[in-house]
Amino acid sequence: MAKGTINVETKNIFPIIKKFLYSDHEIFLRELISNAVDATQKMTAIANRGDANGELGDTTIEVKINKKQKTLHVIDKGIGMTKDEVEKYINQIAFSSAEEFLDKYKDDLNVIGHFGLGFYSSFMVADKVEIKTLSYQDEAEAVKWVCEGDPEYSISKDNKKERGTEIILHINDENKEFLEEYRVRELLNKYCKFLPVPIQFGEKEVTEKDENDKEKKVKKPDIINNTTPAWTKAPADLTDEDYKDFYRELYPISEPPLFWIHLNVDYPFKLTGILYFPKVNNSFEVQKNKIQLYSNQVFVTDEVKEIVPEWLTLLHGVIDSPDIPLNVSRSYLQSDPNVKKINSHITKKVADKLEELFKNERESFEEKWSDISLFVKYGMLSDEKFVDRAEKFALLKDIDNNHFTFEEWKKAIEEAQTDKDKNIVSLYTTDKDNQYSYIAGAKQKGYKVLEMDTMIDPHWMGLIEQKHDKWTFKRVDADTVDKLIEKDEEATSLLTEKEQETVKKQFESSLGDQNTYTVELKPMSTEDQPVVITQSEQMRRMKEMSQLSGNSFMGQMPDAYNLVVNTNHPVINKLLQAEGDKQQNITQQLIDIALLGQGLLKGEKLSQFIQRSVNLIDEE
Ligand code: ADP
Repeated sequence: MAKGTINVETKNIFPIIKKFLYSDHEIFLRELISNAVDATQKMTAIANRGDANGELGDTTIEVKINKKQKTLHVIDKGIGMTKDEVEKYINQIAFSSAEEFLDKYKDDLNVIGHFGLGFYSSFMVADKVEIKTLSYQDEAEAVKWVCEGDPEYSISKDNKKERGTEIILHINDENKEFLEEYRVRELLNKYCKFLPVPIQFGEKEVTEKDENDKEKKVKKPDIINNTTPAWTKAPADLTDEDYKDFYRELYPISEPPLFWIHLNVDYPFKLTGILYFPKVNNSFEVQKNKIQLYSNQVFVTDEVKEIVPEWLTLLHGVIDSPDIPLNVSRSYLQSDPNVKKINSHITKKVADKLEELFKNERESFEEKWSDISLFVKYGMLSDEKFVDRAEKFALLKDIDNNHFTFEEWKKAIEEAQTDKDKNIVSLYTTDKDNQYSYIAGAKQKGYKVLEMDTMIDPHWMGLIEQKHDKWTFKRVDADTVDKLIEKDEEATSLLTEKEQETVKKQFESSLGDQNTYTVELKPMSTEDQPVVITQSEQMRRMKEMSQLSGNSFMGQMPDAYNLVVNTNHPVINKLLQAEGDKQQNITQQLIDIALLGQGLLKGEKLSQFIQRSVNLIDEE
């Protein structure tokens, strides 16, 4: 048996490994299995060239645990290592690269967990590690390497008969969890689910038919991975069902996706993957199925913020790229030219796909719009380049469920909804039920009303206004219907100035709360409501946006409304004619009706209103 000492500078490697990698112990298994996969793929390549010594045979990698012995084994049938190779790759190279690595990144702990130290990460969980290996090369002899987590190791002959490498970890007490079947299975599922070489973990029972067509239960090796996941195949070889099946494999309990994009880039970087548009039902709770990042089918992370444009992290799926630098810090990643290119490539692909769907399958695009719109709106708001592309397929939906592109919408409303300053005014509602009477009023005037009821809409409308000259949005209750879209003609009041003064005072004293409501008199059509409550578009939007962005000062400002009295309405005349309590009651009744129209009449006020209404009927 030979003994050796790892050179002095690297002496401290073990405590460092243990300390630095503390937070992410579990990656040791990924590292060991990745090595096993590499060795197996090399062996397959050699065999394919006809250079193998004998048959390639089955190359399944086996992972097993022995609870009694407290060992975890990773066994491959790859190229194996000769004694010289163990000396070279395990002792020298591994140590020098580990040292170099720690030197470079010791100030950036985040990185280490993502990178791993290859083979040596096994010392995070094991006191003692053994390697038994037999090289594929002619007349190679099996060797055994043992190291107990200090700079000394031993190397000796072994009686291993099968080609390949077995790594044996003697799991330490603090890491007993890695001797539990469920835990190891969990890790295999997380990191190895799509590795290109079959990986066996234990056995499973399956039902088979024997020669007499009788069903019987037999034990079969349990292969935990899918070696050819959909993203590694050519799109032409995949059906819609295949894509959906793969989605289910990734996210077993999710609803089927709406559609998907198969990414396949060769130059200037390599990247494959499938991005799915999930069904979101207008909510922001779509983050839970994150995009998974792989490197040559090895799971790396599901934190892809730096690689995928922020707004596309709402998508689901897989990205696989050997070219994404995983071993550097996050801030560096953001400025990495390759990552930037990946970013804009993905954005472009998503825009292409949406445009294609819109052009070729408009009907189904419209059906899916309520789900897609979240991405498109979010994308437009966060990505300049995407805005220009999205202008072609972003849709506006009106309350009758008609969809319009921006251009179509402009054409549709231009004639009826251009105001005296040549602004095209788009009316919208945030709540069809609550704003019903306002919508009805607008419709009567021949106006079309859009539905803008998601959280992102105020921001989105702001963006559209910014990008399009002379295009403004107004909520249906932003003003009285005749003023929503101001035309030239002005109605004149039928009341004298003195009468107007009386009406104003009457309403002001009934309202009491002057901070919330401002009384305004307007001569409108006799057909319009006698009293309407409106809320200025600008004020409301400013408040909404501040609330969204967490600006507490603006967000907490009380709501301010206008109470607009239609001085030409016959009821106002009636009010002027009445006196004392009667006048008081009519005023209050009119105010309450207006409040009711805005959904603002609640609690005690509502019950008083009901009582007063009953009394009024009695008086008749
Ligand atoms: P890396 O995999 O990043 O090169 P490792 O420390 O994991 O670093 O491994 C060092 C080297 O040891 C590998 O490059 C490979 O040559 C050799 N090696 C490790 N595991 C195996 C294995 N299962 N079969 C054959 N060679 C291996």
